[in-house]
Amino acid sequence: MPLLGDLIEVLESWFDPRWAESWDAVGLVCGDSMEPVRRVLLAVDPVPATVGEAIAAPAQLLLTHHPLLLTPVHGVPADDPKGGLIHRLVRAGCALFVAHTNADVADSGVSDALARRIGLDHLRPLQPLTAPPLDKLVVFVPSTEAGRLIDSLAAAGAGRLGDYERCAWSSEGLGTFVPGAAARPAIGRTGEIETVVETRVEMVVPRGVRTAVLTAMRAAHPYEQVAYDLYPTIAPEIGVGLGRVGQLSTAQPLAEFVDRVAQSLPATAWGVRAAGDPQALIGTVAVCGGSGGSLAELARDAGADALVTADLKHHATLEASVERTGLALVDAGHWSTEAPWLDDVARRLRDHFGAELEVAVSRQPTDPWNVHAPPRRSGAPTE
Ligand SMILES: [Zn+2]
Repeated sequence: MPLLGDLIEVLESWFDPRWAESWDAVGLVCGDSMEPVRRVLLAVDPVPATVGEAIAAPAQLLLTHHPLLLTPVHGVPADDPKGGLIHRLVRAGCALFVAHTNADVADSGVSDALARRIGLDHLRPLQPLTAPPLDKLVVFVPSTEAGRLIDSLAAAGAGRLGDYERCAWSSEGLGTFVPGAAARPAIGRTGEIETVVETRVEMVVPRGVRTAVLTAMRAAHPYEQVAYDLYPTIAPEIGVGLGRVGQLSTAQPLAEFVDRVAQSLPATAWGVRAAGDPQALIGTVAVCGGSGGSLAELARDAGADALVTADLKHHATLEASVERTGLALVDAGHWSTEAPWLDDVARRLRDHFGAELEVAVSRQPTDPWNVHAPPRRSGAPTE
């Protein structure tokens, strides 16, 4: 039987906490990583209904997409709604673990599951994440001093690539200079051409340690005037990112596509709505589970005919869709667009841990919009 720590290790390898937004709160909320886990329950929201379901199972881990404690708290008293949930979980020996924006961008993540559920193929991130920016330092140093300089630059944080440290590339050549009247050269004499065998050292520098690396370079370099270049580089995409763009195997009119979305996703009380020409053909589709309205422009730039997401606002929708920008907006509900991810994670957990772990997905809809009235019939009295 796996320990909670074993599950966390696997989950964090799929949903790297470093991918989470800075404002987010992901990871273990409560629980002991040394405790065994026999049953896991997956849910979008950590609310009384899903916490109750986890405790009744009984599950030893409730894995949710949304954080319970997104804003900082100084305590978890039992008479506070969220503190009360923590108390119930701890008393029942059930841990709570959150994979939120780190699961949104992951491959495979929340939007992958949504896209596949709708029937999209050839998926790629709508807003790719890039690696942290690195600069390239090129510095010229007398060859006899090159090793010492590389040591100092590495100690200040240069030359780190993945699991490797002190990465540097060197080539040898001739440096030449004439020391001026006021110079105090380490090598050479005033007014005379000097030629020195020098090494060109190249190392990457994370932008956050630039000042420290340049300070270390000047301290370790024998020359009064250090010759160096610092180049910004283009950060590579790392294969994950927010939202997805994909293709339907056959394009279909928006009205039919909206019906397809409604039939594909878990049902809510109020269904699926869209803004756009009902006859417009939808072939390329962008999706973003949860609140993805801010991705409309990227979706349009990516050539999407429609964006499937949730929490769309009146004015933004008017501007993005109805004013003929060619992008239909489909509001399929926050919970419904994120729930397909649960089945994806459940399948992966079963594949990884086999019969040792029971994995269940909560089927309780936690969409808060639970009451719906159909529109007023035309011709019906208004008073
Ligand atoms: Zn969400």
